[in-house]
Amino acid sequence: MKIDKHLLIASEQDEKVISDICLKTETKFKTIKEGYPTSIIIHFTAGSSAKSSVEHFKNKDTKASAHLVIDKNGDIYQVVPFDTVAWHAGNSHYNGRSNFNEFSIGIELDNPGELMKSGNTYKSWFGTSYSPDLVISAVHRNQTKITYWHSYTQIQIQRCKEICELLINAYKINEILGHEEIAPKRKIDPGPAFPLDKMRMELLTKGSRIHSASITSKKGKVNTNLLNIREDAGSQFDKIAKPLKKGADVKIIDEYNGWYKVETKITGWVSKAFIKE
Ligand SMILES: [Zn+2]
Repeated sequence: MKIDKHLLIASEQDEKVISDICLKTETKFKTIKEGYPTSIIIHFTAGSSAKSSVEHFKNKDTKASAHLVIDKNGDIYQVVPFDTVAWHAGNSHYNGRSNFNEFSIGIELDNPGELMKSGNTYKSWFGTSYSPDLVISAVHRNQTKITYWHSYTQIQIQRCKEICELLINAYKINEILGHEEIAPKRKIDPGPAFPLDKMRMELLTKGSRIHSASITSKKGKVNTNLLNIREDAGSQFDKIAKPLKKGADVKIIDEYNGWYKVETKITGWVSKAFIKE
């Protein structure tokens, strides 16, 4: 895929991008300001199919739209060009900034969203039942109890990642956020079935972890019985060796998001909470 004149274009045989541009009167000529977009906002459609969501966005009475909708089969619909304001974020606030529609790209993934468990099946808000193999149970980042979520397809996640990469290169994108993060009281999308933390870590911190210029390497000691050491800064990443033992000496060489990169016989990431400096 590539971006040309603020439109996504397929470039490989297995890619399908359907340009279904619909500019509504309200947003018709409202271009995103010079120097923007700087953010990508990920959503689920909470709909029954990508097509129905695209039709919903195209309806001139609907006060909602997004730049892209990614189907479960990987097909992509573009409804709004990337230089035009879409209405996907609504009342939003994050890190001192508000009104994300003005400076962000909205990517919607076709997904029914949160499901209700009913016997052996799981039901969407619009009444469709799904079998357990399509369901992920997890605690949402804004909640405390386990809930049920329709999984995303591999190809959907892959396409979303590819698009984010293209957008990062084409514009000045410096953050990828979930709707649930910029409107936590109102929104729960994309939810825990979407690998948001992993994706932004992979796409926005490539190779150079410059988050911790202050750390020039310092000494630490493991202060829990067994401490997992992982390939990257987060519990979702693979363990790369046997856990470190209590009292083991480590050299702290980097820090990111509550994690330390440490050097012992091997180098990997451990939770900062279990290292005594
Ligand atoms: Zn949303």
